[in-house]
Amino acid sequence: MAVLPERNSPTVEAIYNKHESGRYPYRPHLGASLIGRECERELWYTFRWCSMNFHSGRILRLFDTGQREEERFVEELRTIGIEVHDQDEETGKQYGFSDFGGHFGGSIDGVALGILEAPKTWHLLEFKTYNDKRFALLKQHGVKQTSPEHYAQMVVYMDYLGLKRAFYLAVNKNTDELYGELLKPDPEFANLLKQKAERILSADRPLTKISDDPEFWKCRFCSHRLVCHEDQPAEVNCRTCLHSEPVEGGWHCMKHNQLLTTEEQLRGCNDHLYIPDLLPGEVVDAGDDHVNYQFNDGTTVRNGRGGMNSKQILIRYGTTNISA
Ligand code: SF4
Ligand code: SF4
Repeated sequence: MAVLPERNSPTVEAIYNKHESGRYPYRPHLGASLIGRECERELWYTFRWCSMNFHSGRILRLFDTGQREEERFVEELRTIGIEVHDQDEETGKQYGFSDFGGHFGGSIDGVALGILEAPKTWHLLEFKTYNDKRFALLKQHGVKQTSPEHYAQMVVYMDYLGLKRAFYLAVNKNTDELYGELLKPDPEFANLLKQKAERILSADRPLTKISDDPEFWKCRFCSHRLVCHEDQPAEVNCRTCLHSEPVEGGWHCMKHNQLLTTEEQLRGCNDHLYIPDLLPGEVVDAGDDHVNYQFNDGTTVRNGRGGMNSKQILIRYGTTNISA
């Protein structure tokens, strides 16, 4: 019997589409939630908007479920008498920090007083959801070993916000079992993470790869795998242009000598010239308004005046990157 193509309900598709509409493909700053990731090249690619990582409606709904769980955690903590502040009452925004000219930062889930293990100490709150398998590991090994990125994130937040404790609260999505862990500051590690952030923000070309093997498991799940290992040109926007630089409070275009809004960075312009490391080849010659390359596939490509603009190069050599 012929296999019927997989179909979903149009109503379900409409819900997924609603989640997908109006999504911004990049984050303006390097987030503290990412700084614990091992590969500095990945973080640099992310900060420089190299790959448009579109998530499907299903995945976005999953993220939304995680956020709803955070509201439930806050409610439950308050129900047992703990004082929780999850947003600044004056601004209505989450608390957080911003450093390095606004290019490194993050928002916290909240702060709390009255956590039963240490009731007189203000705690940073961090909420997470886990699947069954990872939840078992969390219970066995604790957060530092099971989810080093979460640990790094909390260490950075405690350091910037001057908090002496953190309370990590996680739920097993399959069983609703809860796990709580108290964490202390780690100033030495926080400093290393700040130095790492500075390295990423100040580099004008990609940092070291974690692996040269595209089949390495971390690379297989990396949203920049195509640019990093598969000769895909990076996306075209101001952050991948060799004329741009991060400055205090934003991004500057050296070609037009202007500060760029986030929308302008997203659009780029016809004068875009790729940062050479973001194209699959070697530079053979360059001038003020062009760069000539010998690509790895043997072709000679001129990026800029008298040749192809960056969008034409991307269309000719690129593919799409969508997570299912
Ligand atoms: S594909 Fe691998 S080496 Fe490349 S950025 Fe991603 S994690 Fe790093
Ligand atoms: S030249 Fe164009 S693409 Fe490049 S940084 Fe300036 S405005 Fe952006």
